[in-house]
Amino acid sequence: MRMLPFAALLLAGCATTSAPVAVEAPTVAATAETDPVDTAADAADDPAIWRNAGDPAKSLVIGTDKKAGIHVYSLAGKRLSFTPAARLNNVDLRDLGAKSGGRVIAAASDRADIATAHVSLFTLDTAAAKLVPLGRFPVGPGEAYGMCLWTRASDHALFGFVVLKDGRIDQVAIDLSGASPKVTTVRSMKLGTQSEGCVVDDRTGQLYVAEEDVGLWRFDADPSASVTATVIAKVDGKTLVADAEGLALAPSGRNGGYLVASSQGDNAYTLYRLPGVTYAGRFRIGGGAIDGTSDTDGIELILGNFGPAYPQGLFAAQDGDNAPATQNFKYVSWAGVKRALKLR
Ligand code: CA
Ligand code: CA
Ligand code: CA
Ligand code: CA
Ligand code: CA
Repeated sequence: MRMLPFAALLLAGCATTSAPVAVEAPTVAATAETDPVDTAADAADDPAIWRNAGDPAKSLVIGTDKKAGIHVYSLAGKRLSFTPAARLNNVDLRDLGAKSGGRVIAAASDRADIATAHVSLFTLDTAAAKLVPLGRFPVGPGEAYGMCLWTRASDHALFGFVVLKDGRIDQVAIDLSGASPKVTTVRSMKLGTQSEGCVVDDRTGQLYVAEEDVGLWRFDADPSASVTATVIAKVDGKTLVADAEGLALAPSGRNGGYLVASSQGDNAYTLYRLPGVTYAGRFRIGGGAIDGTSDTDGIELILGNFGPAYPQGLFAAQDGDNAPATQNFKYVSWAGVKRALKLR
């Protein structure tokens, strides 16, 4: 009881400390939105984008419904196909290029079995705009949560990173040379608390992971490299507001460009300039004929020409509130983001 006055003083001190104020963010209007997912409540989760270089208007967007399956949408947002799956959370894709016959592989973190993380692989049939399942492959113990892919520059080997809900990151080698894929866990890394969003920069072989309440980390993606991460940005309540969720990249040159993070706690997206990872600005999606985004989980950004509405690239973001309809994904012009933030 003798401690009480001192404790009370401490509490009073805490009460008068003002919370950090998020840095203002201009709004950029969504150009299109996808058809809503079939499942009510929190269901849409994470997008991936395939740019059709030969016919940009026929590019495709993949989006997960974490309670039902996985969608393929057109650039107009129309649902072109749906592949049922119990519990896919995040999805990423890689175009394996001309040598593979233009094969496009999508990989999703699969938590249908919460005791054993799996990765679900698909071929994206780009002509039919449909995902063809290649199988579900066990990765390691725990609940699969985040997922991103990496094509190693030196030998074009394909790797996946499955982020487990407890912050462990299992790296898998994905061998597609045989009749059926071989998925082998090659190493594990660990962050302290719940993590999900991740992205790999194929130019530099650097893996970025978002630890939701803490900040952004960088690992060397190579399986022979150190498992120690470098903190590159903190959840500070000003530029990045918890949860730190989806990550995406706007590569420029050898190692420049931007890393983008979903600042879920204040419905914004934060840009960091590469390679040094310095804060470069933030924006929100809104202010147009289409409703804005809030509570965003997954994001994706692919640069390049996607036609007149997206001359420099397409940014896609999950929208947590698309009332009166169910959740969906919003599309934004990357040129519009750069204009709003006065970026070159
Ligand atoms: Ca959500
Ligand atoms: Ca994704
Ligand atoms: Ca999350
Ligand atoms: Ca909305
Ligand atoms: Ca809407």
